[in-house]
Amino acid sequence: MTDAPEARPVDRYEWERVIRRARLGRVIAGNAKGSRGGVSAAAFKAVAFTWSSHGNSDGSDIYPGDATLAVESEVGLKAVKAIKAAMVRLGLTTRTKAGARRQGQGDVYRLTLPVSPTLDKLIEVLSTDEVRAAAVATYEKQRGTPPGSIPPEVRAAVFERDGNRCVECHSTDDLTLDHIHPWSLGGPDTEDNLQVLCRPCNSRKGVRVVVALAGY
Ligand SMILES: [Zn+2]
Repeated sequence: MTDAPEARPVDRYEWERVIRRARLGRVIAGNAKGSRGGVSAAAFKAVAFTWSSHGNSDGSDIYPGDATLAVESEVGLKAVKAIKAAMVRLGLTTRTKAGARRQGQGDVYRLTLPVSPTLDKLIEVLSTDEVRAAAVATYEKQRGTPPGSIPPEVRAAVFERDGNRCVECHSTDDLTLDHIHPWSLGGPDTEDNLQVLCRPCNSRKGVRVVVALAGY
């Protein structure tokens, strides 16, 4: 494949940590009319991790056949072939030895990561902070929706106490109620756990919370 990016060999540990954060849902898109022929992120990841599990810890010596991969990952053979081709195209895996077809040997591959261009230029790869933020958002979504769950009288009392402006920058525009101890971490909808923040200050605080949670 001529347009395969330059890639460097990596061990399984490094490869899997990157693939975990990669957004693989649109790498193999369906046709224009719908999703026919498309491969879901779940299928892509199942095949990718099954693939890497065949390698040595240094990421070398991967040679399962497509049918074996299909059985193990519980993904259809056609999708497996498309995913394998996409991994090669993205520089996520590189052929290291061509098999002797006459003797029924398959090709041998190893795990790689593209260097030029890097993977995040080719597809979306979340940072660890972004994963954490998305996880918090997912948890919040499951817990219920915070906006509107705050009783109106609590809401009004907090706005009045804080003078109807952002407690950080004193803006009076685009105001939100912020949970001082994050709601996603069990912070209650009570007056003393709420403050008025404008949306920009609120999102800056969100980033700080995420960074703190991630242990940086
Ligand atoms: Zn503000």
